[in-house]
Amino acid sequence: MSYGTTPSPQQAAPRSGYDKPLPEITPLTKGFWDHARAHRLAMQVCTRCDDVHFPPSPVCPKCLSDAQEWRPVSGRGRLESWVEFHRAYWPGFANELPYRVCLVKLEEGPLLVSNLVGPEAEIGDGVEVVFDAVTDEVTLPKFKRAG
Ligand SMILES: [Zn+2]
Repeated sequence: MSYGTTPSPQQAAPRSGYDKPLPEITPLTKGFWDHARAHRLAMQVCTRCDDVHFPPSPVCPKCLSDAQEWRPVSGRGRLESWVEFHRAYWPGFANELPYRVCLVKLEEGPLLVSNLVGPEAEIGDGVEVVFDAVTDEVTLPKFKRAG
């Protein structure tokens, strides 16, 4: 994965003019992004032992089964930590400074790194997912304070 500021010739430029880094969608992560595009937060679940995990893995981190599927989750969690960026490490972020990056522990267990949007929130606050369709292919799950 590259976060360079100049897309390589092989990478298709996003149609919308979105100029921030985009995820590389692979066969392993495709389920996550397909659900996100439909405004559902989904996690990989082991159909043998029901372990809910993220990031996705070819086999279950608990029982090593390769029987994995994507299931929608609640979209709710707790704010574990957050930071505020005041410098644009990528030019596309320059107009959004400062922006917040957060660590969320989902009700179902997995930890997710995302963006914190909306009003101020404190560590321990309940948060819920919101969706930001940044291109035709990519919808980013972000989090805001719940309630
Ligand atoms: Zn398992």
